[in-house]
Amino acid sequence: MAKQIVMLGPPGAGKGTQAKMLAEKLGVPHVSSGDIFRENLRAQTELGRHAGVYINRGELVPDDVTIAMIRERISRRDCNDGVLLDGFPRTAAQAEALDEMLSDLDKGQVVAVPCIIVPEDVLIERLTGRRTCRAQGHVFHIAFNPPVQAGVCDFDGSELYQREDDTVETVTNRIRVYHERTQPLIDYYQQRGVLLEIDGNRPIEAVFDGILSALTGV
Ligand code: AMP
Repeated sequence: MAKQIVMLGPPGAGKGTQAKMLAEKLGVPHVSSGDIFRENLRAQTELGRHAGVYINRGELVPDDVTIAMIRERISRRDCNDGVLLDGFPRTAAQAEALDEMLSDLDKGQVVAVPCIIVPEDVLIERLTGRRTCRAQGHVFHIAFNPPVQAGVCDFDGSELYQREDDTVETVTNRIRVYHERTQPLIDYYQQRGVLLEIDGNRPIEAVFDGILSALTGV
């Protein structure tokens, strides 16, 4: 039976970075709702245009749209043996919908939910200094992980830009939305005994080791 993992944590906790590393290690697809929305935004699809309005304000895209998008993604065959979900679910309704769709699609259940914890002032510093590569989404930080040449991606030479939702105003709103809408999921998964709290205020490799040891035996 497939083992599904959900990664939780506020914006800026390093969830995306850790999710990518973990998915690779486990050999399962990394499904990031934010990445799928951004791909649709770039391609100017109807979904992208609709979602873009919410994303640029730091608000959540409505549940029905988000749930349909994820359902379509995880019903594909590459998710048969498991998937690593990053950024979904983000509301109680999405968590319930996820349980239902896994059971409908016969894809097992959520067995582990690493939740990365980082103090709020650190989150704000990390997000507002983040710069993202236009071509492939490589991530840098102007102070903590600067590129060799300012404004240029070390890996593919493309332009580095600040995501519109990484500005101070939008970041503050995203963190507020996280507390209001996503924090309740921590209780939801804790009650089911699958929550794994991870200290995210450490170097990337140390956080990753923390996740791997918390997952031992799951
Ligand atoms: P992320 O890259 O995960 O920080 O997501 C960027 C933005 O995409 C969020 O601020 C939301 O506007 C939107 N988004 C991503 N995942 C979800 C979700 N599960 N539910 C609603 N909106 C989402």
